[in-house]
Amino acid sequence: MKIATMSFDDGHMKDFNAACILGANECQATFYVTAGRLEPPRMEEYYGVLGLDRIREGYTGMEIGGHGVAHYILVERPETLELETVTARRRLETVFGRPIESFAYPYGIRDKRTIAAVRAAGYTHARTYDVDPGNVVNANRYEHAVTLKFAPSMLDTLRRCIDAGHEHIHVAGHAWQFSSDDWEIFKRMVEALLVANYPITSNGSFWRLASGEAGR
Ligand SMILES: [Zn+2]
Repeated sequence: MKIATMSFDDGHMKDFNAACILGANECQATFYVTAGRLEPPRMEEYYGVLGLDRIREGYTGMEIGGHGVAHYILVERPETLELETVTARRRLETVFGRPIESFAYPYGIRDKRTIAAVRAAGYTHARTYDVDPGNVVNANRYEHAVTLKFAPSMLDTLRRCIDAGHEHIHVAGHAWQFSSDDWEIFKRMVEALLVANYPITSNGSFWRLASGEAGR
């Protein structure tokens, strides 16, 4: 079964451009929000003067995932694992008023201890930043790979993946890196996936849809 999923990291007001384009096409994505950036003074840096209500509204219909509190490289700061996994999850659940089940490792960097902490914190799967186009769903749902990262060449790369017949496509990156031209390319990527009959969904829904075929 063909499925595409998208994820955006760090939390930023440019996320809302992506959410708007996806929502208009009845698609979903996961936004991995760094919990410490929903509080002053980091909130102003990432979301300008928008308050929490506007931030919640901007993510309407989209999945929110955990991405730490301070965005530390977890393998270098094991003393912060509880904060970056458990506390991050609780804060997001409080702010967004819904269960948080997906996690993305900051910078994609993890080790066995990190993976165990993410699992123990109650997340049901976790995204890396490893690019592995033919094997997005691998044996470990705590090491979810990506097909491609957002870049100026992303539409061409995506078309090659569609032509290669990859069953699962996972596009990931950072909306804050997008220029105004990139949003046009992004719209064309959404169209290309939909025309090729890939539903575009969140990482959480992706795992539910793919679970019959994926290892646990
Ligand atoms: Zn990040």
